[in-house]
Amino acid sequence: MQKNEIYTVKIDDLTAEGSGVCHIDGMAVFVPDTATGDTAEIKIVKVLKNYGFGIVQRLIEPSPDRTESDCIYSRQCGGCTFRHISYEKELEIKAKMVKDAFERIGKLSPEFLPIIGGENRIRYRNKAQYPVACDKNGKLLCGFYAKRSHHIVPVKDCLLQPESFKKAVDIIISYAQEKKISAYNETSNTGMLRHIYIREGYHSGEMMVCLVVRKNIERELRGLIPRLTSSLLKIKSIVMNINPKQTNVILGSKNVTLWGSDTITDIMCGNVVEISPMSFYQVNTSQAEKLYGVAKDFAGLTGKERLLDLYCGAGTIGLSMADRAGSVLGVEVIPEAVQNASENAKRNGIENAEFICGDAGDVAAKLADDNMLPDVIVADPPRKGCDIQTIDSICKMNPDRVVMVSCNPATAARDCAILCQRQYQIVKVQPVDLFPGTGHVECVVLMSKVQK
Ligand code: SAH
Repeated sequence: MQKNEIYTVKIDDLTAEGSGVCHIDGMAVFVPDTATGDTAEIKIVKVLKNYGFGIVQRLIEPSPDRTESDCIYSRQCGGCTFRHISYEKELEIKAKMVKDAFERIGKLSPEFLPIIGGENRIRYRNKAQYPVACDKNGKLLCGFYAKRSHHIVPVKDCLLQPESFKKAVDIIISYAQEKKISAYNETSNTGMLRHIYIREGYHSGEMMVCLVVRKNIERELRGLIPRLTSSLLKIKSIVMNINPKQTNVILGSKNVTLWGSDTITDIMCGNVVEISPMSFYQVNTSQAEKLYGVAKDFAGLTGKERLLDLYCGAGTIGLSMADRAGSVLGVEVIPEAVQNASENAKRNGIENAEFICGDAGDVAAKLADDNMLPDVIVADPPRKGCDIQTIDSICKMNPDRVVMVSCNPATAARDCAILCQRQYQIVKVQPVDLFPGTGHVECVVLMSKVQK
């Protein structure tokens, strides 16, 4: 196989990044914007030692799994991977992604429950972070990064976000343009406006607008407040987040509330929850409620168990289980999130929940040393999974059940495999689609102690 050669191929697989795969002389060739079942004429654009890349020249016979993408940006934008294929097929691929991770990485073969799909493939998100940049003519633009790049696709209205976000973004960008507030440039670490970060409570409708800037420009931003508050009726909070660092990490450590409240509230599993800009909050509320419901079911609570909620964020999981637990202890590293969690317990009259700020591994090690013996541990780590100290401490605390909630099947499979080498067995895995249209999938895993 050589560069520039033309082949007629049948696409026989699809990666998690949404790229079709075909095989030529036994070698895998990745072809973006194709679907399993497509017959296409492709041109080889790159050949490496074990695989290659092609682009579609002509679609000869489209796969029955294809649908017309409902988004005009989906070919360039890195946000959605599966907009050109049916949701049914997307769910099938995601279920397989989870199964493959546990079988290949974890060498585990638990029961896989049928994936729980979302009701909406559009407008389900409650949060967006739009990078801001400046084009060649000095015009501000904002949108989302293109696939595998830091180039901004100026997405006017993203179908994953509530419609109100577009309105907020338009107001901010035209204000910044008018007041000559410059866009941040990561290469030179110059310019001011880095990101527009917006949240809107799914049930409450309360909106928070957070302007991420390189330096304190409170004075320059003052005039924006009446424009936002007069147009967005459910806005509750306008925050300036200062991030002076030359980094692609979005948020800095300092927040200044420019108007309204420091937090917004939403309802999650029947609890009123407040969230700060720094706190993690699942982006798809209605699916998160299903996810937490599964986790609660897997936790098998009867009313007396001591529950440890590791990586608890604003406390949403632990609080949703508190009515069926004896006690709940949450552990989280972000102080603002811990503060939210404590407030959330109070606000909902939950008296059997406490929250500690600290690294999950450190706190778990300390709890294990202090002979704190939870009956059930829920762990919902970030994408990189649990560290070994956390896993060691979970084993030392020796709970009857471990419920792992994860947005990354690969690290979940790795961590569960370690637990299985110790005193646990994997019982079942429930994939849940929290991110329809995109290449991401969530799962809940039940592990139980092996009876000696
Ligand atoms: N369970 C929560 C949050 C899950 S996201 C929910 O469902 O909303 C993962 C959380 O782990 C984030 O809140 C993040 O701040 C936190 N986190 C990341 N690294 C951590 C660590 N080393 N120790 C404790 N918490 C950590």
